[in-house]
Amino acid sequence: FIYLFNSNITLGKNGVPVAENFQLEQSTIADTVQAGQVRVKTLYLSVDPYMRCRMNEDTGSDYLRPWQLSEVADGGGIGVVEESQHRNLAKGDFVTSFTWPWQTAAILDGGSLQKLEPQLVSGRLSYFLGAAGITGLTALLGIKEKGHVAAGANQTMVVSGAAGACGSLAGQIGRLEGCSRVVGIAGTDEKCSILVQEMGFDAAINYKKGDVAKQLRELCPGGVDVYFDNVGGDISDTVISQMNQNSHIILCGQISQYNKDVPYPPPLPPDIEKIQKERNITRERFLVLNYMDKQEASVLQLCQWIQEGKLKVRETVVEGLANIGAAFQSMMNGGNIGKQIVSISK
Ligand code: NAP
Repeated sequence: FIYLFNSNITLGKNGVPVAENFQLEQSTIADTVQAGQVRVKTLYLSVDPYMRCRMNEDTGSDYLRPWQLSEVADGGGIGVVEESQHRNLAKGDFVTSFTWPWQTAAILDGGSLQKLEPQLVSGRLSYFLGAAGITGLTALLGIKEKGHVAAGANQTMVVSGAAGACGSLAGQIGRLEGCSRVVGIAGTDEKCSILVQEMGFDAAINYKKGDVAKQLRELCPGGVDVYFDNVGGDISDTVISQMNQNSHIILCGQISQYNKDVPYPPPLPPDIEKIQKERNITRERFLVLNYMDKQEASVLQLCQWIQEGKLKVRETVVEGLANIGAAFQSMMNGGNIGKQIVSISK
């Protein structure tokens, strides 16, 4: 089975994605595996916010190719090699790629795949799409490269999108790296209680309830020193208003703006930009793909924290390729806690 990006529904730059933007079709793959290729069975696929940009003809970024209408969609994936004509890969190897086709089985170039070591995650392979993969790297390297976190500096970190894949890890890593106070902002009471009870956040705010600015003032009495921003928009404007002199924004993502026709990163409203400039708050673009030279050491660090129980990992798993469009839509609307994974076959 293969999953196609559907030709019938044009999203446009301002559209909200729906499951019907995708279409499942049955197809066959080639009988023979050529030199340098492998035949893989897909195990897990990732749905991610950046995919919304791939639904536009112009993705707005030079590193993202648009999905083509009526062609197979692709993204982060993990599978097992069933037949190999590649010298470095053998039957039974687990492999991953950022451009895995949304298919239950595929013939891929062996050179495009990275081999995985399941023991690093105690066999929980899907972690390589989340906490031990791009998501974990984004949280860790975002903090290290843009957060200016220093142990003993008594810093308060705020994380938006805090119960999502990146956010849930970012708060915990902020603490591990030395922040003395970590406050999350998320969309349900259940998410907020998981952040505090399970992930060690000091407090969490449900942004859909009550006055976020007031709660933030109460929960961050010394102001905000580091802001891990996953969402942008009103939430971020509120947080930035309460940031300290010489503080730092980790500009991870702006999901609240992805269904709108705005440039990335979206400019701040004039009053918030004034605060940012006056208080000398850094807001530099962060893209994890620019730091892949640090991938190997960082993945080892993440896996070590996971093994030691210092980094708690949550996943929301949907079963079956037929449900991947719905999983994407659900994640974009807050249906996930931790990393949204689609499990394809055991
Ligand atoms: P995620 O946080 O697991 O899932 C998205 C979450 O966003 C939802 O669960 C929802 O949670 C929240 N959300 C959706 N619409 C919102 C809105 N209008 N306002 C506030 N929150 C909203 O996804 P992720 O993969 O970890 O990605 C998080 C962010 O990191 C995204 O912005 C993504 O683009 C970015 N990212 C950046 C890089 C990089 O290199 N810079 C790499 C990976 C990801 P609620 O229930 O809380 O609303």
